[in-house]
Amino acid sequence: MQERKNIFGMSLAELTAVTQELNWPDYRAKQLARWLYLRGVSSFRDMTDLSLKMREELTAKYLIARPKLKVRQEAKNGKTAKFLLEMTDGVSVESVLMRQPYGNSLCVSTQAGCNMGCAFCASTLPGLMRNLTAGEILAQVMYVNDMLSGEGQKVDTIVIMGSGEPLMNYDNVLAFIKLCHADYGLNMGYRHITLSTSGIVPNIYRLADENLPVGLSISLHAPTDELRSRLMPVNRRYPLSELVKAAAHYAATTGRRVTYEYILIAGINDTESEAKKLLGLLKGQGAIVNLIPFNPVAERDFKRSSPQNQRKFQDFLAAKGLNVTLRREMGGDIDAACGQLRNKFLGSTERK
Ligand code: SAH
Repeated sequence: MQERKNIFGMSLAELTAVTQELNWPDYRAKQLARWLYLRGVSSFRDMTDLSLKMREELTAKYLIARPKLKVRQEAKNGKTAKFLLEMTDGVSVESVLMRQPYGNSLCVSTQAGCNMGCAFCASTLPGLMRNLTAGEILAQVMYVNDMLSGEGQKVDTIVIMGSGEPLMNYDNVLAFIKLCHADYGLNMGYRHITLSTSGIVPNIYRLADENLPVGLSISLHAPTDELRSRLMPVNRRYPLSELVKAAAHYAATTGRRVTYEYILIAGINDTESEAKKLLGLLKGQGAIVNLIPFNPVAERDFKRSSPQNQRKFQDFLAAKGLNVTLRREMGGDIDAACGQLRNKFLGSTERK
């Protein structure tokens, strides 16, 4: 018998190919999509607006394989929860739910592991296992939506900032974003989705040209090519001048302000001299700078900037008119296998 193919995660175009192969009219593809993504059924049996025969035809050729929950951890304050989902081939990825005053925000992973090689990041240590499919990224949201529905809630905003470099998995990430937005999918506004990148310049242009008002975050972390290339090898390929230009193009095309993320590492990028250079680089761009105290990773030597230096860095930039924010309080009591998520999000939600 021929091996059954996983239908979960297929885009509308792919589902249309499935229905055409079965000699069904095209509108059936949308019905399928609705069952898979809007209603989230896990069996063809439940697709009650398809005839029994059609359901049997599907079952003979396809299966609905969704990732399964492996570990769930809740912070004591109940505001942050981390989910480890296992894909059908055994690789696992993390998602983090943050219950914010303005709604529930979910941080999703786009790759199992990462190969960008950033010197400060835990995700890149094991290297890249593989890209996630659109369905595997979407399943992270659907899983948490299922859980929240018991409380009459849902995921309100999505940040594509978990492990992996989303713009190195462009097609799957774009298909995921479209599934989030579609009326047969999660029905979410593009404005409620933000993508974070280490700076894959050609794909920033590509994303801008999709003309979707998705928020863009750039992981900057250094104001000079010399330092940035040391911290982030991607900079050797796409230097700062090109990155900032691409970001400005993105803002102009989509009408959305770009956020620059800047982790503060003691003695490396947190001095006044760096602050001045950062100002020179970003002044007049209308961008937002988000300062994040570095979250120490056991395998790395870097240390977090002192609270005084964090404040000085912020004050310097603010006084010169940059739009700058600082996440202050770290901590939380749940495991930080994915250190950067913890730093970014436990920090903002557990601030005292
Ligand atoms: N690859 C994408 C998205 C994943 S990383 C990107 O680079 O943007 C998500 C964010 O966490 C990035 O801004 C990354 O630089 C940051 N980060 C990684 N390690 C960190 C650490 N130890 N402490 C604080 N932030 C970290």
